Amino acid sequence: MPTSLLQIIEAIETARKSSQLAAPAVTILGACKGQSAESIRTAARQGVRDFGENRVQEAEGKWLELKKELPNTRLHLIGPLQTNKVREAVALFDVIQTVDRIKLAGALAQECARAARTPACYIQVNTGREAQKAGCAPEEVEALVAHCRGLGLRVEGLMCVPPVGQHPGPHFAWLREKARALGLAGLSMGMSEDYLTAVRMGATCVRLGRVLFGERATPQPSSAAH
Ligand SMILES: *Cc1c(COP(=O)(O)O)cnc(C)c1O
Repeated sequence: MPTSLLQIIEAIETARKSSQLAAPAVTILGACKGQSAESIRTAARQGVRDFGENRVQEAEGKWLELKKELPNTRLHLIGPLQTNKVREAVALFDVIQTVDRIKLAGALAQECARAARTPACYIQVNTGREAQKAGCAPEEVEALVAHCRGLGLRVEGLMCVPPVGQHPGPHFAWLREKARALGLAGLSMGMSEDYLTAVRMGATCVRLGRVLFGERATPQPSSAAH
């Protein structure tokens, strides 16, 4: 059983008030890979405004229609982006949370100029240095942010997916500190299992799949792997 949006909002508020590190407001992003258009409509009716998809192709299939129906939603890309999908991604997404390498930044900047459209960007950081996971290495973040800014990309924050089975706290703390040092306000961290920890540590965006929608019907490819 998914937790109701109201219960999630209340839990987030309680967590927020319990911590001095918490952000003044937290965006709930519905991580809707594998979810039907109908479940997305239901969540939108309940008040979810932000949705995240992992794959450009799956997102196009659902959202070319849904965007017309739900004009006030913001669509985020939260899965890895290949340079050959940059054109579709820039056209469809309002926020690209998974910028993680120089080459991708260059392709995005070029396409943003061509399409005269600039989605907001987050830099994804592989805080756990996992071989199979997307995200730049922790020591590369500063240079990548500077590079993206130099290209005119609208960098708004940092995003991470901590390793399964580790306490996420140190990863969230590291990301918060790095974002602060770089003058970035956005912190996309926390999923169904750890979003209240993330909120206590300053998340501005939590990406909720199972807790919001229930278990996914079909197994999805690992979210953050290339
Ligand atoms: C699927 C996914 C989520 C949501 O995961 P849940 O554990 O179902 O909440 C969040 N972030 C990313 C990057 C994902 O791929």
